[in-house]
Amino acid sequence: MPVDPQLQQIDLAVIAVAATAEFWATSSATVRSALLEGLAQALEAHQIELVALADEETRLGAGRLSGEVARTAFQLRGFATEVRNGVPYASVDDPAIAGAPPAGRPRLIRVNEPLGPVAMFSASNFPFAFSVLGGDTASALAAGCPVVVKSHSGHPRLSQAVFDIAQGVLKAQGLPAGLLGLVSGASRAAGTYLVQHPHIAAVAFTGSFGGGTALWRAANERPVPVPFFGELGSINPLIALPDILARDGQALASILAGSITMGCGQFCTSPGVIVLLPGEASDRFVDHLATALQPLATHAMLTPAMRQGFDHGVAQLEQAAQARPLFQAAADTRGPAPRLFEVDAQAFIDNAHLREEVFGPCAVVVRAASVAQVNQVLSAIDGTLTATLWGFEQADESARSIYRSARKVAGRVLFGGVPTGVAVTAAQQHGGPWPASTQPQTTSVGYAALQRFLRPVALQDAPAWTLENPGTCA
Ligand code: NAP
Repeated sequence: MPVDPQLQQIDLAVIAVAATAEFWATSSATVRSALLEGLAQALEAHQIELVALADEETRLGAGRLSGEVARTAFQLRGFATEVRNGVPYASVDDPAIAGAPPAGRPRLIRVNEPLGPVAMFSASNFPFAFSVLGGDTASALAAGCPVVVKSHSGHPRLSQAVFDIAQGVLKAQGLPAGLLGLVSGASRAAGTYLVQHPHIAAVAFTGSFGGGTALWRAANERPVPVPFFGELGSINPLIALPDILARDGQALASILAGSITMGCGQFCTSPGVIVLLPGEASDRFVDHLATALQPLATHAMLTPAMRQGFDHGVAQLEQAAQARPLFQAAADTRGPAPRLFEVDAQAFIDNAHLREEVFGPCAVVVRAASVAQVNQVLSAIDGTLTATLWGFEQADESARSIYRSARKVAGRVLFGGVPTGVAVTAAQQHGGPWPASTQPQTTSVGYAALQRFLRPVALQDAPAWTLENPGTCA
C-alpha cells in the first residue's frame, strides 16, 4: 500500500470496485436494469437539493441544471431499456458448415465480455450528465463494468452528494457498494496513478486537450495499456451558403448568437468557426451576427482556470495579425463579453493558432473565396464533434463536395439548426477524428456508448453448457 494518502484512497476505491467486477459482468438484465432505473429515480427524488448544490458550485443556473438532471435520469433509463432488450448480451451465431475450408467451418458464436473496472473522469461543464451518474457511468454499468469516478474539482460537494445517493440505491437493492467508487480531491499525479492502476481496464474522459492527452499517454504507457475513451476538444465549424443567408440571414444570426453564448460557450459542441462564401448576403449576415452577439450577457465561467483559458485564447486571436475583431467587446457582465473575429480562409489554413478551440463565448468567421477553399478549410480542421451545413437542401456539385469534406472531419453532420444540444438516442454519434475523440469509432453520448466497454469473444465449437446463457456465461 503506498504511503501517500491520496494514492491509498485510490487503492482502496479501485480494490473495492474490482472485487465486484465478476459479479457485475455476469449479472442478469433484470438486476442491471433495476439498478439503472433506481439511480434515475433517486436522482429525480433529490433533484431540488442537488440542483441547489450544483448551482452553488457551478453557477450554471437552476433552469439549466434541472434540465440536466432530467437528461441524466432519461439516459439512465434509456440504458436500462437497452439492457432489458439484451443489447450487452447479444451474440452472433454462425452454424458449422461441413467440408474443407474456406467454405467449411466450425460453429462460431461471437459474444461480448465486459472489459472490467472503468476509471471515469467527470467533466466540469456537465455536473450531472457527464459526472458521477452521467453517460459514461450509465453506459459502463449497462455494459457490465463497475466504475471508479474521479470527481471534477469544479463540483466536489455535488459529486459526493450524488455518490452518497447512489450508495443508498445500491444498499436498498442489496448490491455491493463497490459497484461505484469515488475518488475526490485527487492531484494530477493521483489521477495518473488511477489510470495506471493494474485493476483498471478502461478509462473514460471528457475535458481539455492537455489533460486528456496526458492521461491518454499514461493509459498507453502502462505495462498493459488499456482503452482510453477521451473527448478532448472541438471547434464545430458551421458552413452557411449565400442563398439561405439571403433568405433568412437575420433570424439565423440571432439563433447562432444564442448558440455561441449558451452556457457561456462552455459546450464541447459550441460553434467556434463560421465559414462563408463571398457575397452581399454573407456580408450582411456577419453584420447581423455581430449585432446579435455583442449585447448578450453571459454568466460566470465554471472555474477560474477556464476563465484564464478563455482570456488566453482571445488574447491569442487579438494578437494574430490576420484576425480582425468584428466589434469592440462590451464590458464583462458576470461572465466574459462575447467575442467575434474574422479571418481570411488562407490565413486560417496557414496558422494553426487560429484553429484552436477557445472554450467560451467566442467564434471566428472564416471568409472563403470559393467552394474549393471551403473544402480546404474543412480539411485543415482537426477532427471535430460536429459540422453544421446551412443551405444544403439542393444536391448540386458544391453541396456534395462540402458535405463530403464535412463527413471526413466530423462525428455529427447537421443540415440545419445549431450544434449545441445533443440528443440521447441509438443513432447519436458524439465523437469524431482526433482530438474530438481518442477513439473515433466510438461515441460518448447515445446508447452505442455502451459498446465501448465490451470486448468481443468468439466461442468455437462451444459445448452446450456454455450456451445456456452465452451473453453472460453465467
Ligand atoms: P481538464 O483540465 O482537462 O480536467 C478534466 C479532468 O482531468 C479533471 O478531473 C482534471 O483534474 C484532470 N486532469 C487535467 N489535467 C490532468 C493531468 N495533466 N493529469 C491528470 N489529470 C488531469 O478539463 P476541464 O477542467 O473540464 O476544463 C478545462 C478546459 O477543458 C476547458 O477550458 C476547455 O478547453 C476544455 N474542455 C473541453 C470539453 C470538451 O467537451 N471537449 C469539456 C470541458 C472542458 P482536476 O479536477 O484536478 O482539474
